[in-house]
Amino acid sequence: MKTILTGIRSNSEITLGNYLGALLPMVRLANKYSKEYNINIFVPDLHSIISEVDGNLAANTIRSLKYYLASDLELNDNVHIYRQSFVPAHSELCWILDCVATMGETSRMIQYKEKSKGQDSCNVGIFNYPILMAADILLYDAEFIPIGEDQFQHIELTRNLAIRFNNKFGEIFTVPAKTKDQVKFMGSDEGIRVRDLLNPEKKMSKSTPAENSKIMMNDAPEKAAKKIMSATTDSFGKIKFDMWSQPGISNLMLIESLVNDVPLAEVCNEWNGGTRYGDLKKKVAGSVSQLLTDFHAKLEDVTDEQIFELLEKGESYANKVANAKLLEAQKAFGLR
Ligand code: ATP
Ligand code: MG
Repeated sequence: MKTILTGIRSNSEITLGNYLGALLPMVRLANKYSKEYNINIFVPDLHSIISEVDGNLAANTIRSLKYYLASDLELNDNVHIYRQSFVPAHSELCWILDCVATMGETSRMIQYKEKSKGQDSCNVGIFNYPILMAADILLYDAEFIPIGEDQFQHIELTRNLAIRFNNKFGEIFTVPAKTKDQVKFMGSDEGIRVRDLLNPEKKMSKSTPAENSKIMMNDAPEKAAKKIMSATTDSFGKIKFDMWSQPGISNLMLIESLVNDVPLAEVCNEWNGGTRYGDLKKKVAGSVSQLLTDFHAKLEDVTDEQIFELLEKGESYANKVANAKLLEAQKAFGLR
């Protein structure tokens, strides 16, 4: 059985961008495909520690997992939930892949360039995490990895490492689908990139310090609505979906479409050509605050016990699958 895999770091609360770009698409895919695919949902806690964590990582991890259940993830025996650091094979395969990857290709990663920019000394994890991500994927022969557009380059890197490894040692790893096929599989034309509310040229990120730049999934609905109302737009005076010239207003339309699960074309039809930015903001603010109200209510019903029970089963499964694949890679290198 093939595998669909996804993970969201839980070093802090997640943003609306993470939710709409990664979590919700994964839940929708899982609910659609969990009869025919393994659905691996894991918390990459080892990825979290490449940046500042607040000391509550273990607890945040449990909370993040609750988010999937609060987003109506349907559970069955093919849905596997686990924590990365509870499956040591991830770190082990990462080291093996480190010895396959080149400095040149890893240095080209945009996320690395962005995350290390302006830092006097950046930790090696920031440089190395795409390789750990490749291990996360290759250990489970995952074919589809629903993630936001910012991570596409890492999927290409993973593909290259798998192909190189296989060419040298035989067919050990499943090569994940090309990013354009990933996107198609997710049912859209392109990757999702929700923008920063104040600087819409950039993507919304949980690590951006400015509070009004991002909507956090634990924001009070009224607070989130205010953030939408104060989002940066433009001075064209005419609504048009065009991420290049009018990223602020386009971002609001994108959010409106994703939150309500209606095609972007429908939202464009309704708003393109209009002049009342305020009305659009009010509409989006209403949609987002309704989303958060419903989400918070569902979250209250998910218990810690439920999550721990899932983790016990999921981590036993993950260790079994990952250790078997690791052994193949170790044998290929002559370590076993
Ligand atoms: P950080 O700033 O710490 O990197 P982040 O908000 O980028 O945080 P990640 O944990 O790096 O979050 O990414 C988790 C998932 O969310 C990934 O699949 C990523 O592609 C997706 N994602 C992140 N930001 C966005 C966004 N603005 N729009 C859509 N998807 C996003
Ligand atoms: Mg990121």
